[in-house]
Amino acid sequence: MNDSNDTATNVELKSRSTAELSGGKNPWNYVPPLPIQTSPYFRWPADFTAIGRWMFSGWFPVSERLIILGIAVLCAFFFHPDLASTSAFTFEWVAQIYVRNLILMCLVAGGLHWYFYILKGQGDDYRFDARPLAKQSRVFTFNSQVRDNMFWTLVSGVTVWSAYEVLMMWSLANGYAPLLSMPGDFLWLALLIFLLPMWETTHFFLIHRLIHNTTLYKRIHALHHRNTNVGPWSGLSMHPVEHLIYLSTVLIHFIIPSTPLLIIFHLSYFTLSAATTHTGYQGIARRNKVILPLGTFHHQLHHRYFDCNYGGLETPWDQWTGSFHDGTEQSHQQFLARRRGKMKAGAKP
Ligand SMILES: [Zn+2]
Ligand SMILES: [Zn+2]
Repeated sequence: MNDSNDTATNVELKSRSTAELSGGKNPWNYVPPLPIQTSPYFRWPADFTAIGRWMFSGWFPVSERLIILGIAVLCAFFFHPDLASTSAFTFEWVAQIYVRNLILMCLVAGGLHWYFYILKGQGDDYRFDARPLAKQSRVFTFNSQVRDNMFWTLVSGVTVWSAYEVLMMWSLANGYAPLLSMPGDFLWLALLIFLLPMWETTHFFLIHRLIHNTTLYKRIHALHHRNTNVGPWSGLSMHPVEHLIYLSTVLIHFIIPSTPLLIIFHLSYFTLSAATTHTGYQGIARRNKVILPLGTFHHQLHHRYFDCNYGGLETPWDQWTGSFHDGTEQSHQQFLARRRGKMKAGAKP
């Protein structure tokens, strides 16, 4: 979900080879160069040039990861309670975390929604699916896709995000979760920050497969899949139980040592990049060039077709388990064949 590496900063502004995806009728307004590439980390023989290029382009010169890391650093130093004060629950520091997260989500998802869908800052340029977001649809809470998405994001998403952050800060302060000592363990901290995207795609794939293949889909995950087309508020628009499962990722820090900064980055990476990767656009563009990659066609395919691309691109679990759709016609035909097989077997999405 959070990979921006299926984006290329030099992609040309044109729609490519998509007509074939629906038997001659082009379902997309724009697609990136195909096939979608997964990370080169696990290829053999190892291609260190490709690995180096992939690592660099995932973070630099500018990326959602780098921006979210910058936000996390700012929060850790200026908008976060002192760790010692979090050893006992008090209204003051818990409310500080909650209000800060609420503001962050409004700034990121609200800012992107304003730029792409209200200001229409770049029209439909680099937009995957040009259908408008639903304004009158009974599928959505309040009959409106944006209001529905905002409601589930702000009321449930930010609350669960903040609750996990409060739990982890309290646990770090009381010694229930291991703490890295700074500055001595700085290299460990840097390594863990760097590895987080790989962990994210693994965790997301596992929980996403779980909620697609059980009764949890209808009861829980279908709420996120109301969005067959997506906007920034769709990313964290989930059922409260899915928020609990999705953000349980941070509980790994009961085993892997952390710092308040790492906890803030871990949770804001999962929440804020959910907004950035669901913009519905390849990214922010200037002069026919994407200067800030955001959305992922990989996950856009999941929202359109449901039973493919459950994970991300850093750790190619979909390729390993046969659910990868790389956007090409050949891949689409394989996907349709898999779906027919599943329907015969009576499986769920
Ligand atoms: Zn999604
Ligand atoms: Zn799904």
